[in-house]
Amino acid sequence: MKINMQPTRTPMAVRDPAERIHTFEEVALGYTPDQAVNEAMRCLNCPTMPCVGACPVRIHIPQFIAAIKEGDFEKAYQIIAQTSTLPAVCGRVCPQEKQCESKCTRGAKGESVGIGYLERFVADWHNEHTRPQPVDITPNGIKVAVIGSGPSALTCAGDLAKKGYAVTIFEALHIAGGVLVFGIPEFRLPKRIVAREIENLLAMGVKIETNVVIGKTLDIADLREMGYRGIFVGTGAGLPRFLGIPGENASGVYSANEFLTRVNLMKAYTPGSNTPIPHPHKAIVVGGGNVAMDAARSVRRIGAEVTVVYRRGEAELPARRAEVVAAKEEGINFCLLCNPTAILTDDKGTVTGVECVEMTLGEPDASGRRSPVENPDKRFTLEADTVIVAIGTTANPLLRDSTSGLDYSRKGGIIIDESTGMTSMRGVFAGGDAVTGAATVILAMGAGKLAAEGIDNYLQNRE
Ligand code: FAD
Ligand code: SF4
Repeated sequence: MKINMQPTRTPMAVRDPAERIHTFEEVALGYTPDQAVNEAMRCLNCPTMPCVGACPVRIHIPQFIAAIKEGDFEKAYQIIAQTSTLPAVCGRVCPQEKQCESKCTRGAKGESVGIGYLERFVADWHNEHTRPQPVDITPNGIKVAVIGSGPSALTCAGDLAKKGYAVTIFEALHIAGGVLVFGIPEFRLPKRIVAREIENLLAMGVKIETNVVIGKTLDIADLREMGYRGIFVGTGAGLPRFLGIPGENASGVYSANEFLTRVNLMKAYTPGSNTPIPHPHKAIVVGGGNVAMDAARSVRRIGAEVTVVYRRGEAELPARRAEVVAAKEEGINFCLLCNPTAILTDDKGTVTGVECVEMTLGEPDASGRRSPVENPDKRFTLEADTVIVAIGTTANPLLRDSTSGLDYSRKGGIIIDESTGMTSMRGVFAGGDAVTGAATVILAMGAGKLAAEGIDNYLQNRE
């Protein structure tokens, strides 16, 4: 088959920035079938498959791309589905540029193949042209409980259901999906996409019980008594870190988690919302990761002038490059090499601004990034009525406080055996952000897969 030697990627249409700052509708609009085939034709079908080695769930990339070249999009979907439970999600939010695409042979002379764009196209095509069908699986009668419903839990549940286990997911919130529904905003990941991926799991026989907080409503001992012989803990890293500076308890200061949950899940910006938020005029978002970009772009959409305050420089911003570019297109300002030292308030305790100090970059720290150093003489004030703190999260402490027998690392993550995913409690496995701290969707999925294999080996006495 003829190869398309075009050095650049087939572009994907996006909503105009002037339009998108007034709407939560998805920004990227996806490929047409012709665009997908054109992009697929750029793949060289390399025998060594460097892209596959860099994918944490080992999607058969050249094979699914070959099916797109043939115009057989359903076959392409089925190839991806062999290893990934959430392709429409991953096609949108995975950092492919640091994974599969970073190793793509085409990247040596031009742009890599748009593997993420193609994955998204195939998953969307499947979802538009098919309905979830009950899957014919022979049940083995063994019950497994999965705690949480983020990507680690959904992947673990799906892999075990395919093997015949009777899987029940227990989720604390009223809706399943974890950060995919309450963290990542609609304009990057529409919630109907997550709902459809979950419908595919339900079609495999997975049951979901929402509004069950393990550690409060039930605990691990209860689950064992209820006959669950294997347990997976995928409770994520939902505990926000704060700056620890004066004024942080003022009205108008939010953690990014709280702000995004209220905006995404509860539509707090609409009149009549149960948890209203005032419409900010000037917002400051502290942090430089994906969460900070999501918070900045969300608060921009509810009408605020937004400044991102980050203590290192542009090159060190940990967010995906595409998100930073999109944020700038949407008119978000960046105050780089500066750090908040105090949140200023009026006499009613309402935020009026943030005092900052200029920073310079010193020697590299343990992470290899140059450490920011304060210039104490260079202080200035930024006006704001809202401050959103997005400087990271740690593992949810609820299970830790309620369950004895699970060992934790110094940073608060559950300790597991890295080859099986088993924790210090026999039969209890864990993975995703609850183990690693805040990471990525695909790493959480990889951890869910590893644990599913570990649970299967454990329950079939193949340890
Ligand atoms: P989570 O998705 O955190 O899900 C944990 C679930 O467990 C939640 O539903 C929670 O309610 C539930 N739970 C917690 N405690 C209990 C309990 N005691 N009982 C029952 N249920 C419980 N990653 C990317 O790859 N790309 C991105 O673009 C990206 N953007 C992000 C944007 C934001 C705003 C955030 C917050 C994260 C982003 N991430 C991104 C990171 C990614 O979403 C996470 O790494 C991933 O969701 C972790 O999956 P998980 O399964 O470990 O847990
Ligand atoms: Fe195709 Fe790139 Fe993978 Fe080679 S490395 S098979 S060109 S996607």
